[in-house]
Amino acid sequence: MRNICVKCGQRPVAINYYKNNKPYYRSKCDHCAKGRKKERPLWAFHGYQKKNSCDRCNFTSKYLEQFNVYYVDGNPMNNRYTNLKTVCANCQRILHKLKLPWKQGDLKPDF
Ligand SMILES: [Zn+2]
Ligand SMILES: [Zn+2]
Repeated sequence: MRNICVKCGQRPVAINYYKNNKPYYRSKCDHCAKGRKKERPLWAFHGYQKKNSCDRCNFTSKYLEQFNVYYVDGNPMNNRYTNLKTVCANCQRILHKLKLPWKQGDLKPDF
């Protein structure tokens, strides 16, 4: 089910990209998204903030680049706080190995 554009509230949101044949959507329609330079990832839009510590191993760093936000159930549309985790680069590899459903929230920077 496609969301409605958060800006105009009329047109359906634009498709951002496809992964595993599954479409991921933007928060705005094509029309409203035009001319915009940078769009925050969905989790940021929903008020989640990347932490400076890993939710898995408690690794801390002052460099936020070492962390990524993951969706625990693998569904990037589920932006509830409980579904979002900050994961360090180290744990990301482990997540991948364990084949957990966790999915990175900002796979493709939307610049
Ligand atoms: Zn719109
Ligand atoms: Zn970690």
